[in-house]
Amino acid sequence: MKKTNFQDISDLAAQLMGKGTLVAPVKEVAGFNFREISDAKQVDLNFYNTLMSPKSAFFPHTEDFVRYDKNKFVLDAQCVELNLKPVFLFGVRPCDAKSFEIMDIHFSGTGAVDPYWKKRREATTIFGYAFDPNTPADGADFYSTLNIGAADPEGSDIFMMKKGDELLLQAVTPKGETLLSSLSSLVDASKDDEKYFDDTIAAGHSFKTRFTCVDEKVIAKKLEDIFLKTEFWEKISDACLSCGACTFVCPTCYCFDICDETLFSKGVRRRVWDACMFTDFTLEASGHNPRTKVYQRLRQKICHKYSFHVRKYGVISCVGCGRCTRNCPVNIDIFSIVDQALKE
Ligand code: SF4
Ligand code: SF4
Repeated sequence: MKKTNFQDISDLAAQLMGKGTLVAPVKEVAGFNFREISDAKQVDLNFYNTLMSPKSAFFPHTEDFVRYDKNKFVLDAQCVELNLKPVFLFGVRPCDAKSFEIMDIHFSGTGAVDPYWKKRREATTIFGYAFDPNTPADGADFYSTLNIGAADPEGSDIFMMKKGDELLLQAVTPKGETLLSSLSSLVDASKDDEKYFDDTIAAGHSFKTRFTCVDEKVIAKKLEDIFLKTEFWEKISDACLSCGACTFVCPTCYCFDICDETLFSKGVRRRVWDACMFTDFTLEASGHNPRTKVYQRLRQKICHKYSFHVRKYGVISCVGCGRCTRNCPVNIDIFSIVDQALKE
């Protein structure tokens, strides 16, 4: 285990920038977000959690796949290659680190491998960062009800936690071990630090964000049972604006659209984030739309995460990060909906 003074984080950041691309939380007008760092002093670990999830490090909001010229033969089209330097994704909270495993199922775990996602995953070293179990959780968070600890190192290559004025860093994977041993700005941690680290991980497991327990099989079945109970879905979606904010901030939402954008003869085939909460998400070429009503779309989102995903892959597609609740303009809280569904 290694450590550094919290106030010397910019030295560590500068060292990582010398080895590749550093993506870390920076303070912006509306809150913190992960950004590619150009000045080591931008890195700021005094945050609770970022506004947007870190998924865009692997799955950018827009991404070009193919560039072409309409006046040329189709075989002249050029695939956009990724020439990545090593990437260091720094300061990822445990619930967000868990989300990458869920996203891996879709982008590389089911047989059809997305090469863009895979290459970015392979190029990236994840520095997880514990929540402080001595500080109350934001009211929107519910990761503990999904069995994710406030200081769980799983999903990280190197796991970090704050101890007073110091930052402790522990390698979790061989990739993390190799990198950690090469960072000369760090010093060896003491036995006391190691004990503190283990105690904090354990404390993170008894830390509660909310108190209702969610059994994935029970909620999956319950949602199937009430799928056709229209009055329930109409009631819980009454205020929803179909704005899609909840899906764009979510670390486990992965829907996208593929579109072609042309300017004169030049064209690009591009992937852009999409969302099941949008009216035209299910609009078919015939003009038919199977989900014209708001309740049908919100029902789809909840049932996909908490029922269909459990049936198909065995896990809930939500990590309880609370971003959807924090960012919903009308205060719709996904966990309260799950809680209400269990009582139906
Ligand atoms: S559904 Fe909400 S709480 Fe769950 S992972 Fe997505 S943003 Fe976080
Ligand atoms: S953020 Fe709120 S209002 Fe917007 S689509 Fe999601 S649930 Fe509906």
